[in-house]
Amino acid sequence: MSEQKKILYIEDNPDNRHLVSRILMAYDYEVILAEDGILGIQIAKDEKPDLILMDINMPGLDGYATATKIKSMPGLANTPIVAVTANVMKGDRERALTAGCDGYLSKPIDVDALPEQIAEFIKGRRDHVDEATERSFLREHTERLVESLEEKIAALTIANEQLKRSDVMKSRFIAIAAHELRTPITVIRGYADLLLNPTILPKADENIKTMLQGIASGISRLYEIVQDMLDITQIEAGTLKLHIAPVRIELVVDQVVAIYSADAQRRNLTMVVEPLSSLPGLWADSGRIQKMLSNLVGNAIKYTPDGGAITLSGREVGVEARAVSPTRLQAERYLRLTIADTGVGIDQDDHGHIFERFYEVLDPRFHSTSKTEFMGGGMGLGLSIARGLAEAHGGWIWVESERHDPERCPGSRFHVLLPITAPPER
Ligand code: ADP
Repeated sequence: MSEQKKILYIEDNPDNRHLVSRILMAYDYEVILAEDGILGIQIAKDEKPDLILMDINMPGLDGYATATKIKSMPGLANTPIVAVTANVMKGDRERALTAGCDGYLSKPIDVDALPEQIAEFIKGRRDHVDEATERSFLREHTERLVESLEEKIAALTIANEQLKRSDVMKSRFIAIAAHELRTPITVIRGYADLLLNPTILPKADENIKTMLQGIASGISRLYEIVQDMLDITQIEAGTLKLHIAPVRIELVVDQVVAIYSADAQRRNLTMVVEPLSSLPGLWADSGRIQKMLSNLVGNAIKYTPDGGAITLSGREVGVEARAVSPTRLQAERYLRLTIADTGVGIDQDDHGHIFERFYEVLDPRFHSTSKTEFMGGGMGLGLSIARGLAEAHGGWIWVESERHDPERCPGSRFHVLLPITAPPER
């Protein structure tokens, strides 16, 4: 028994797809369907069919362009492509053959003749046009390809402009919302703190105190979220102001570790800080550096299961360190801090994306929103703010991790580069 032959039929009309596949399957062909040119090219590459039936008039990439592309792909140059088209205008056959097709069948399809015609092409039939005809149609084909490319570029340019406009609108919305929210939140926060002061409500019973503490911590979290939104808009707009002063990195690291130590203890996470005091001092905005490291350590805590370890280390590095950044770094010497965890890890494909605004690897609908619980996701802003802050200082942040694997926990290492510079001129 001979091997079953595989036919790819690229056709946008579902009735035609149905009809032709029924006929061919009745003759024991395996039929694979693609509803447009782009999909057809992909399937041709993956499936390596014995023959391709190609509709010519398709929206998007038409049959001529699809045939030209398929013929240029490795392993497909000799695969027969048979055009099936309702075009019965003069020159249509020549046009199809010049574009890379090896045969031409007109619609409506002759149900009785089709299987025999297909068998002929599979056996080796190839139709040709003479050289002079081919040359003239080739020019027309090329012109049409360039024309459609021009149309696509024009459409893409318009779409791109629209995207840019909605991106600006989105940034403006975030900026306004955050700005407007900050004022009432600050007021509520102030009153909540005041009510917690024992001199204001000296006789408040424990239940009321607990409730007030709940309100105060909820408001603090809300305040941080709004602050993150404001930070990201300033980073994006390039309007972030840094208060540059001498900074000892070991002191900032100690403050960050202190913020998380209770949560780390509760979750049985070991936090190790390797000696940093021999590192040179920086000229930087210590508040912003603290925020940047806090986001990284916070993530290390969130994405490491209970019982894991988080290690902070640092060293001085030279100009060779600049190579990690696609932006132009200027300094000669850098402090490189590393926050390593034994957590779930990050797939290599995501290493770039996680620094994008609002990007989350896992579906945000399924995570708990928490700053320190395992897998407690946030808004997807922490890393873009951290990298924005590093960049504002003339530095960079990047990640190393083998893969995302919550079972084996390969861990992640986030590296921060901060320039070691002379004091700024006043
Ligand atoms: P989020 O608010 O979601 O934590 P981030 O910008 O801080 O936003 O991080 C983006 C995504 O990067 C996270 O949703 C998480 O999937 C991944 N990620 C960040 N840090 C780590 C880490 N230390 N280990 C594993 N995944 C991480």
